[in-house]
Amino acid sequence: MKNELKQVTRKTFDEVILPIYNPISFIPVKGKGSILWDQQGNKYIDFASGIAVTALGHCHPLLVKTLQKQGETLWHTGNIFTNESSLRLAYKLTTNTFADKVFFANSGAEANEAAFKLARFYSINYYNPYKTKIIAFYNSFHGRTLFTVSVGGQSKYSKNFGPKPLDIVHVPFNNLDALEEEIDNYTCAVVLEPIQGEGGIILATKKFIKGVRTLCDKYNALLIFDEIQCGMGRSGKLFTYMYYNINPDILTTAKALGGGFPISAMLTTEKIAKMMLIGIHGTTYGGNPLACAVAETAFDIINLSKTQDGVIKRNTYFLNLLKLINKKYKVFSDIRGKGLLIGTELSKKLKGKSRFFLYAAAKNQVIILNSGPNVLRFAPSLLISFNEIDKGMENLEKTIYKILKQS
Ligand SMILES: *Cc1c(COP(=O)(O)O)cnc(C)c1O
Repeated sequence: MKNELKQVTRKTFDEVILPIYNPISFIPVKGKGSILWDQQGNKYIDFASGIAVTALGHCHPLLVKTLQKQGETLWHTGNIFTNESSLRLAYKLTTNTFADKVFFANSGAEANEAAFKLARFYSINYYNPYKTKIIAFYNSFHGRTLFTVSVGGQSKYSKNFGPKPLDIVHVPFNNLDALEEEIDNYTCAVVLEPIQGEGGIILATKKFIKGVRTLCDKYNALLIFDEIQCGMGRSGKLFTYMYYNINPDILTTAKALGGGFPISAMLTTEKIAKMMLIGIHGTTYGGNPLACAVAETAFDIINLSKTQDGVIKRNTYFLNLLKLINKKYKVFSDIRGKGLLIGTELSKKLKGKSRFFLYAAAKNQVIILNSGPNVLRFAPSLLISFNEIDKGMENLEKTIYKILKQS
């Protein structure tokens, strides 16, 4: 028997939550825009957005209004019905992208799971039962279900879980020769993140993306873009593929899609969608009215050119401040990214310390992320104010100063 719970603290986590995370020592209790407050009332600048999720900041007034209104109207019906907000959101997603059809789910992994199942089902039925190979890239991240973690290119996440789905191959990212060697008529899909989010903020080159598209066409393989992290305005366009003058065949989106409310989507073309059959795939919550209503409002704001132009302006501002810090302290060997998905590679003497920086930054009242052991990741709200960026950078500089003084 446990004692009666008087106040929850970070220690309560260790008592009752599966030990798969190591959360920061304080508990946020309130958020507004790019500011978070903890239980003690301390204030933090949020450069993380819950891992690129709260793209419009915390508690954006229009999202709150939609949530309240829909919350008093209709939450859930299940897929024995359709509902108005999912239809409106799907309409917006398709009229603004390459896609004709949408499948809604609840998390990134589920959207990718659907994408991989669709690619297999389509290729098996349209071509032949042996066209099942999925090619993915080293350091990619596609989610934590057994299928998606097996497609992901980081074996540390997939080992020790027993037998995995077969016919999945990994090749180096941004290396067309390696892909050309592996791709063949038995390949059903190639999947990539246009910006590898968990793998170190690595941007696909234009040449690589064009080359992958050409190879996919040559071998009738579907090109899947995992834009779960880099999509929905984060790169400065609605989706990152829009920079490259090509279309994927399938695209997955999640994280920012609901502005903090869990929802994901898989988008595809009429030609591919047409191979699906009633009952072949599904989910209980996917496309529920509450999630779709919030996502529709988030979409309307993210799809404004004002929002996307603002991301580009903030990118320049953010990069300049990072460069200034680096000029003084020489802690980064590279500063890169697109829009408001920015990574700084730690210099040689600080290699492997990204998690340490993250905890230290939190102590100094700025929330940042890491992306692998050597890269600090910044994914603030797309609407963060320039003042908030200044303040967050001050706190980051303080963090760096203290770390260097100690080492
Ligand atoms: C976060 C992420 C996922 C997984 O999303 P979940 O909602 O955690 O299942 C998949 N792909 C990419 C690129 C991601 O960043």
